[in-house]
Amino acid sequence: MRNKTMRVNISNTQYPVISAATKSLGWSTTLANDWDILWRDGSVSLSTLSRMKTSQKINHFPGMYEISRKNCLAKNLNRFRESFPVDYDFYPETWILPQDIEAFKLALNDKNTLIIKPEASSQGKGIFLVNKIEEVKDLKNVIGQRYINNPLLIDGLKFDLRIYVLVAGCDPLRVYIHEEGLARFATEPYAPPDMNNLNNRFMHLTNYAVNKHNEKFVQNQGDNEQSHKRSLSSILKKLEKEGRDSASLWDDICDIIIKTLLTAQPFLATSYKSAQSSDYYNGMCFEVLGFDILIDSDLRPWLLEVNFTPSFTTDSPLDLNIKKQVIADTLRLISLPDRSKQVFEKVKTQYLQKRTLGKRTAHENAELRGFAQEVRDAYETQNRGGFIKIYPDSDYFEYTNFLKHSQILWAGGFSDFLYLPRIKKPKFSESKDRNHSAKKIRIREKSPSTPMKTQRTGVSPKRIVRVRTKLSFSSMDFSCSHSRSKSYLFGSESSILN
Ligand code: ADP
Repeated sequence: MRNKTMRVNISNTQYPVISAATKSLGWSTTLANDWDILWRDGSVSLSTLSRMKTSQKINHFPGMYEISRKNCLAKNLNRFRESFPVDYDFYPETWILPQDIEAFKLALNDKNTLIIKPEASSQGKGIFLVNKIEEVKDLKNVIGQRYINNPLLIDGLKFDLRIYVLVAGCDPLRVYIHEEGLARFATEPYAPPDMNNLNNRFMHLTNYAVNKHNEKFVQNQGDNEQSHKRSLSSILKKLEKEGRDSASLWDDICDIIIKTLLTAQPFLATSYKSAQSSDYYNGMCFEVLGFDILIDSDLRPWLLEVNFTPSFTTDSPLDLNIKKQVIADTLRLISLPDRSKQVFEKVKTQYLQKRTLGKRTAHENAELRGFAQEVRDAYETQNRGGFIKIYPDSDYFEYTNFLKHSQILWAGGFSDFLYLPRIKKPKFSESKDRNHSAKKIRIREKSPSTPMKTQRTGVSPKRIVRVRTKLSFSSMDFSCSHSRSKSYLFGSESSILN
């Protein structure tokens, strides 16, 4: 299906690969105001979103800092773990400092090695390992985290995975994972932390920005096996060859991604709606997130962090191939063609003609919104490139409790509708086997698992579940937010929020 030519504004990005990806689609780039898609490296404010035309799109969601700032991620995942200790056990124990200092000291006294990270930094900057409280002095605006000291090694080296995740909508949440990504290797052979190696960043950190400074660093020039950056698919294949269950590893990673995003979904949705209340398509913002995953020697994946601006630097042919593909797939997937929009507009007109006079109700708005998601499903299924839809998917109902819990945690003022997609709830016997079957769907499936019925003129009321989701910014829990994030929310954007 051919899409119309789009104009991508690249005036706010430092990465040439954005332009290369745009051109690979036969689209054009612009530095002017005539854009359809704005790609920027920095975050987006509510005021920018509220000024955009409904036909325009931008590559960030206001509020995504709730999972991309290390302290906020810790706050959100910690409070979910309190209620779901088993389901949310994929994040190393983390303390926000200085507020959690007592628990942090207890953990250190227990002879654990912890890793200290600035709350809003990246590329390994300011990160160090500690195992004695005397070694740490200034504990402001940092997090302390349990150090995973048994990482899975390849060729004796520690590595982590950069997984590309596309959030294609926030209300309802629409999430895709890309089948390709990167593995970043440390450059010194790994040994469990001790007094002699604690400061060896080339051993304990896997950041490219750190390890490229080691003379041992080997750039990937197409020789995947030797280098310190390799493709995600090559790692999964290698594990499979060694007899490890990389299919279930992949499923666990998908599960981590969904659960993490659900912790912030109500905040994202409320922020979005406050700037664009009548975007039925749920499509003016999208975001490519970089999830950093460490695998331990038991093949268990751990979430380290989420990047809202994953590096799109392309220092090697491997980087260029993968990142260009991820960006091109993103641009194509989020660009719903006019043809699809016309299908929705027709239905909307018929729908509104049938309804009784008076103000449109929240229920009716939710129905139209649900139908617009189905129109998107039909297009995206055919135009997803290397992306695989993971939410909502056939195991959607497994996550309903977490979504509701999130709604309650963010609860405050007004009621809303929770959109449930038209997906058959699996029978008990099917859902029990989720870990085995869902992965097979996610990796291999080329056809949609979500049925698409464009002929319908509305959506079944069964899919609209009324939930009391009282949201108000005033009552939200910003306990993680130190002064900087507070001023971000209540400062420049307060006029829109209030
Ligand atoms: P940054 O945003 O600075 O890259 P990360 O949280 O990704 O911060 O940490 C940088 C690197 O440190 C990771 O890529 C990983 O190699 C290592 N690391 C971070 N947290 C842990 C942990 N809890 N256990 C083991 N290694 C970790």
